[in-house]
Amino acid sequence: MDYADSDRARELADRANRLMEEVVLPIERERPGGMAVSSGTVAELREAAREYDIYAPQISEEYGGMGVDFRDALPVFEEAGRSQLGATAMRVDAPDEGNMHLLELVGDDLQKETYLEPLVEGEIASGFSMTEPLQGAGSDPKMIQTTAERDGDEWVIDGHKWWTSNGIEADVLIVLARTDQDAHPYNGCSLFLVPADADGVDVVRDVPHMGGGLRGSSHAEIRYENVRVPEEHLLGKLNQGFTHAQERLGPARLTHCMRFSGMAQRALEIAKAYTDEREGFGSTLSEKQSLRYEIADAETRLHVARTAIRDAADRIAAGEEARVPVSMCKVFTANATQEAIDLAVQCCGANGIGKDLPLADFYESVRQFRIVDGADEVHRRVIARDAFDDVNEAELEPLTRFGAPNTRGGRGH
Ligand SMILES: Cc1cc2nc3c(=O)[nH]c(=O)nc-3n(C[C@H](O)[C@H](O)[C@H](O)COP(=O)(O)OP(=O)(O)OC[C@H]3O[C@@H](n4cnc5c(N)ncnc54)[C@H](O)[C@@H]3O)c2cc1C
Repeated sequence: MDYADSDRARELADRANRLMEEVVLPIERERPGGMAVSSGTVAELREAAREYDIYAPQISEEYGGMGVDFRDALPVFEEAGRSQLGATAMRVDAPDEGNMHLLELVGDDLQKETYLEPLVEGEIASGFSMTEPLQGAGSDPKMIQTTAERDGDEWVIDGHKWWTSNGIEADVLIVLARTDQDAHPYNGCSLFLVPADADGVDVVRDVPHMGGGLRGSSHAEIRYENVRVPEEHLLGKLNQGFTHAQERLGPARLTHCMRFSGMAQRALEIAKAYTDEREGFGSTLSEKQSLRYEIADAETRLHVARTAIRDAADRIAAGEEARVPVSMCKVFTANATQEAIDLAVQCCGANGIGKDLPLADFYESVRQFRIVDGADEVHRRVIARDAFDDVNEAELEPLTRFGAPNTRGGRGH
């Protein structure tokens, strides 16, 4: 399907596609699903991405990327999502991708030199620590309990976070903490760059979880006890932590949507290949009308998702916050991709459950998407608030209320 992408975006997506077809997918097909690849394979993949000239497209050239603008880079994210190894190869992988974007946006020169450049190179890894065990920050981030108090020219951080993706591997953690107890949390929290080896950082465990697949990503529980960082480790503006988190999350939600729509598209490609070859009840499965309709519906939903994502990205590129369109994309794409991957599993029978094909890993991976970056209900809340913002009471003028005179006059028939 063609979209209104620029020539530059198409050219980049073609290059990404060649990398996927010629390098990433052959490596993926050699590996049994469910088993994480080695760091050597990750290095090999990144080397190949550099050779194909499609490495960290979203980052400015001065920090080691390709300086492609957000809108033009989007189709690359979709290509990358077709394998669990694609985003890692092209260095467009979460959560580092969002963290690099944030560092580039609000980091100072020293922070960029210390953290952004090595992150782009793939020399270090990062995590974003916002969510807390109950009753702390979760769907309602205002419930944040972690604090940072100033002591001379240092900040002292105390808190208990979990589900910090990459938390086990991370060399640096971006931590959201309350810095003004009297202000509303949205105006009283800040972000800090915390080296993972700082005194008081206790990476308790990788929370056991569904998914992981070929990248074997961790989601860590971390205690921050009396962690001291110099004031230069404040990331962005004091008390603007939530604003900066939104600046990270808005585009990151769309890049997540594109990665998962790529995964869903590949799942359908596999399902179509399987059902086209597999025979039963006198014909190939791909000739059964009920399956064809389901594939048609899944393709339609993915097309709608991709179109909406591009619309939201255009708005962001034009300087809009685009909160409602982004929420619409997030909730719609999360459900459309989950349904498409579930359908692909069904179409492939036992091979959908087995791990010779990547479908079972995809299935485990996609389920989180309806929860991370804001659960479905949280985004529906945003959409509904906007929908009810401008209720037109005049629409109900013709109605007669109980006990009130009929204002329309005349006799009806
Ligand atoms: C794989 C994975 C990776 C993650 N990575 C990170 C990370 O790197 N950094 C980080 O900080 N966090 C991370 N998270 C945490 C994630 O952001 C939270 O799980 C999410 O914000 C929801 O918070 P919660 O789990 O506390 O759910 P809760 O707040 O306990 O909500 C539970 C459920 O209640 C429902 N719900 C919530 N609000 C409403 C409402 N208003 N109306 C109706 N229903 C509602 C939703 O269905 C929700 O799923 C990750 C989570 C997962 C699963």
